Amino acid sequence: MQLLQEMTLREKLGQMNQLAVGDITTGLHKDTPAGQRFAAGEVGSVLNIKGKERIMALQKLVVEQSRLHIPLLVGMDVIHGYETLFPIPLGIASTWDMEAVEQCARYAAHEATSDGIAWTFSPMVDICIDPRWGRQAEGAGEDPYLGSKVAEAMVRGYQGDDLKAPHSILACVKHFALYGAAESGRDYNTVDMSRLRMYNQYFPPYKAAVQAGAGSVMSSFNVVDYVPATANKWLLTDVLRKEWGFKGMVVTDYASINEMDRHGMGERKYNAANALKAGTDMEMVSEAFFQTFEESLRDGTITMADIDSAVYRILLIKEKLGLFENPYKYLEETAQYHAPKDFARKVTAESFVLLKNQDNLLPLKKEGTIALIGPLSETRTDISGTWSVAQTPEKYLTLREGLEQKIAKSSPTPWGGVGGGGRLLCAQGCNLVDSKQVQDAVATGHNTTPIPWVDSEKAMQEAMDIARQSDVIVCAMGECAWMSGEGASRTDLNMPAPQRRLLEELITLGKPIVLLNFSGRATVLTWEQQHLPAIMNVWFGSECAAAVADVLFGDAEPGGRLTVSMPKATGQVPLYYNQLNTGRHIADDHPEYVIFNSNYLDVTNGPLYPFGYGLGYTTFDVSPISYDGSKASVTVTNTGSREGSTVVQLYIHDIAASISRPIRELKGFQRITLQPGKSQVITFDITKDMLSFYGSDLRYTFEPGDFDLYIGFDSHTENKARITVQ
Ligand code: BGC
Repeated sequence: MQLLQEMTLREKLGQMNQLAVGDITTGLHKDTPAGQRFAAGEVGSVLNIKGKERIMALQKLVVEQSRLHIPLLVGMDVIHGYETLFPIPLGIASTWDMEAVEQCARYAAHEATSDGIAWTFSPMVDICIDPRWGRQAEGAGEDPYLGSKVAEAMVRGYQGDDLKAPHSILACVKHFALYGAAESGRDYNTVDMSRLRMYNQYFPPYKAAVQAGAGSVMSSFNVVDYVPATANKWLLTDVLRKEWGFKGMVVTDYASINEMDRHGMGERKYNAANALKAGTDMEMVSEAFFQTFEESLRDGTITMADIDSAVYRILLIKEKLGLFENPYKYLEETAQYHAPKDFARKVTAESFVLLKNQDNLLPLKKEGTIALIGPLSETRTDISGTWSVAQTPEKYLTLREGLEQKIAKSSPTPWGGVGGGGRLLCAQGCNLVDSKQVQDAVATGHNTTPIPWVDSEKAMQEAMDIARQSDVIVCAMGECAWMSGEGASRTDLNMPAPQRRLLEELITLGKPIVLLNFSGRATVLTWEQQHLPAIMNVWFGSECAAAVADVLFGDAEPGGRLTVSMPKATGQVPLYYNQLNTGRHIADDHPEYVIFNSNYLDVTNGPLYPFGYGLGYTTFDVSPISYDGSKASVTVTNTGSREGSTVVQLYIHDIAASISRPIRELKGFQRITLQPGKSQVITFDITKDMLSFYGSDLRYTFEPGDFDLYIGFDSHTENKARITVQ
């Protein structure tokens, strides 16, 4: 590459330097100290700056003033949409609808690129089996197969067929690797794992995203084999580049090089050098590359060839995006594009997981008096969920507004207005948590109008008053936006105390209660399952209010299926369906404690709700499995009285192998919609790939023998057939 030869060392280091310029770019021009750095080519990329005018000013400064006119790469955490926010990633995955997943990413790409963004730090594909970790919200859940499908769909959606196309955005697979296995679910904590587990359980989604063509990868904060991923050569070079053939660019996570000394890795200068030599190309924020590489080059710690290969990969990405041809390619549209609201609303409804619906309490009638109670009832800034960097809350409905419009006889918006003129009463009822400091912390910095801190007794009285006047009570409770996501670990996954206390009061009224559980993770709903007739998990989104209204009143069905196991008690975690067996097996639902068996004194082994589980507004039946030597088929029938969709899931268990294999693993799924009374034959090809795994030598192998197939509607299905494959 000619350009590389023309670059000075400082210009090269500038390309490897990514800064979070934030507000200092307001009014930025070349005479400010920051401006001078951009004009001197000392910055190759920026992150999380919003607004076409500001980006334009910056890009112009760089392109016009810097000696070599190399355009900036503008990145942002576009995690589940831009201004239109789809459900949080855990919710998007809960649709099990890969076309919808891809379409969400496509729309997010279109919106973000039409506002100047070239690069998204998504998809986050970290497998997570420990919901204490708040970042479970950002991934697809606990399963490597589903996680891989979601990862591929997102990369396809973001990047399209051609990175040069006007609305393709560069994807970034993160956090490589194993970040979701942070010990104790405490964010940024140690990870320690066998290679077999990495290869079979945690690596597949990263690999799938890379092989789907993701142009960039972000390394993770945690250690892998006792070396921070940021500078882990085995991970970033041997696995990522050599084994998987990754040709794109690697960026660190936020200031992670500066954190390496606290991992016990010594001096910053050597950490930066090791990160480079391990395979890192660009450094996010901490400027260790920029500040130490001149010296490291002089004393031979690194070579110019090390630097050149990193810079080459960065320039290549800019070239692939078409930024050299037109540095303003993302800045030329006059109107900001917005994803169709109808689509977002539909996919949001499709993500909701109905967990319990006793006596078909749902759907509700659009009449009578409804009490909407709970801290999530009237929030506009929390409704879109964690990581909503580009959100425009002033444009979103609160839940109260969504429900009001739905039950009104007529409404100015398309999401309501056919109701019977019902009455909605609303009260916050309680605080989110008992600690004001925590409630403030999860709000501060993310939120202009956080959920108010209220006087507990007064708030409870207000809630009880409106509940008494109502025919049905809808509770909007659980976690606010930033009670999950980065840095939001919890040790107790039960409903936070003040919200539980309110529920305990409300049930004394003996009225029907629907719990909308807002969460960014699997939570513990054991008490709620015992005491409330209807529970639905909702996963945020800018159109969440409209979607909740659609589903509550039956204009749409709740379409989601869990992609995480929901525990009965926090002490069960990590809890995941695709576990290995023990030599002292005991059935998940075995009613009694059995001494010297693998069980607990206080709860049975199984989850409260298993992976793959979710109800709709109709019911389905599945026939026994027939197997013809290469295909397995079942007939699925809608046995209810309304049209509905379900997810037919195939699980496989390898009976005997050279290493212990999971009790079952998801290997296929199909989302189908059927009219009442109608049936459909669902067929899965049983391929050798589905029966293969990484063995003790870390080679991908197939071992012939007997396998159990399970096909049904969740990971606990007992619809089974044994097959032999030679
Ligand atoms: C997070 C990343 C994110 C980055 C940039 C980090 O703290 O771990 O997921 O992409 O910040 O905002």
